[in-house]
Order: sequence, then structure tokens, then C-alpha cells
Amino acid sequence: MREIERAAHLLAKARRGVALTGAGVSTESGLPDFRSPHGLWANVDPLAVASLTAFRRDPEQFYAFYRTRLAMLAGAKPNPAHRALAEAEATGMLVAVVTQNVDGLHQAAGSRRVIELHGNLREAACPDCGWVGPITIVTEALEEGRVPTCGRCGRRVKPNVVLFEELLPLDAYHEAEAICAEADLLLVAGSTLAVTPAAWLPGVAARRGAPVVLVNDEPTPLDNLATVVLRGRAGHILPALAEEAALRKESLR
Ligand SMILES: [Zn+2]
Repeated sequence: MREIERAAHLLAKARRGVALTGAGVSTESGLPDFRSPHGLWANVDPLAVASLTAFRRDPEQFYAFYRTRLAMLAGAKPNPAHRALAEAEATGMLVAVVTQNVDGLHQAAGSRRVIELHGNLREAACPDCGWVGPITIVTEALEEGRVPTCGRCGRRVKPNVVLFEELLPLDAYHEAEAICAEADLLLVAGSTLAVTPAAWLPGVAARRGAPVVLVNDEPTPLDNLATVVLRGRAGHILPALAEEAALRKESLR
């Protein structure tokens, strides 16, 4: 059996499947990943633009970087990878998408349960008083050449994403961990699994006996833990996989 057919068979049987996605599912929407040769960190030091220290000490660089990212996001649309995962949820094979992405494209494609491990770029947040509101607070201020400030305490606000030197939202991770522990399939797509705690989740699922299907265009440190590895771009592989699984699911009835 071809590898994609083995993976489709596992997906078709799944009733509590979970997808775990990284930057590779959004590159075909025109959003760069982080660590590849054309990624966001190819020419810029993340600590200089996307860390808590940069936010506090060098707001000009910090906001310039996020202004560029928010502008890229404004034109981004879901691609076939996002749509395939939304479809697999709608047909009852997946119950959730856990994502390292902050772009909101899974929700835009129709995924209903999305657990965002690194926050999101739709919201602004105040690290000082905990206020959270729409990202327009940031975009409008930057358009007008102002520093975006908190409506409650007056201090600077940032996009509601996890910065370097910041802790991850624990609630989101615990929810992801619990759903992976209950999963009967983990489908990992477009993540190099280089960053914890996302990289712990395949182990959580595998220890409970769930098969792990890994879709990525380059090797990951967890390839040897996977039941099936599909090498290639998420935007190519996921639609083919979801379609094949839907056909098999029909014939299982
Ligand atoms: Zn505040």
C-alpha cells in the first residue's frame, strides 16, 4: 500500500483525530515561515524584534516588525491545506486543530475548534494589566504614527502573540495535551517540530497508542515516532489525503 493510502486509511477510521499544524500550512497563503532560508528569521534576529525585551526597550523596531507581519496577514487567504483540515473536521474525522500559527487562517477556512498555542494576531494585549481587545487598536495607532496604548492602564500594548522570553498560554497547552491524550490519530502538518511544547504532543498521542501521521517537506526529529511519514508540502498532500480518506470513510459505512 502506498504511504498516502495507509495515512488515508488511518484518517478514515479516526473519530477523535487531532491535527497539529505549524508554519508550513500557511506558506502557500503567502505567509513566510520562520526558520527556512526565506523565513522571517533568515535576515533578522528574533530577539531584536519579537521579544519581550524588544517590546520594552526598542518599541520602534518591535512595532515595525509587527506592522509588516500584520500587513502580510491582511491579504492572506486560507489555502487548500486549511480547507482540507476544515473538511476533515466537518465529516467527523478530526475533532480539533492545534496550531502554532497565529494567523487565524484555520478559522477562516471553517475549522470550528482551533487551539492556538502561540496566541493570535487578531487581538492586542496589554502585558501590564491583562487587557485584551481587537488588533485594530495596534494597526490604527501605527497607521497614525502613534504608539498603541492600553485603553485601561495607558501602557503600551502588543499583538496577543507569544513573544520570545514570554511564557506560552498554559490553558491552551493543557487543552491541547488533553485532546491529544484522547486522540485516536494525530495528523501533524507543516511543523518541523523544533519548538516545544508543540513538539511534545506527538509523544503524548503515541504513548496512548494513537497513530501519528507526519506531513512535512523536510525531515523532523520525530519522523521515527510516526506511523506514516508523507514528505511534501501540506498544500499538496493534505487535500489528496482528505479526499482519499473521505472516499474510504464512505465505503466503511
Ligand atoms: Zn493595560
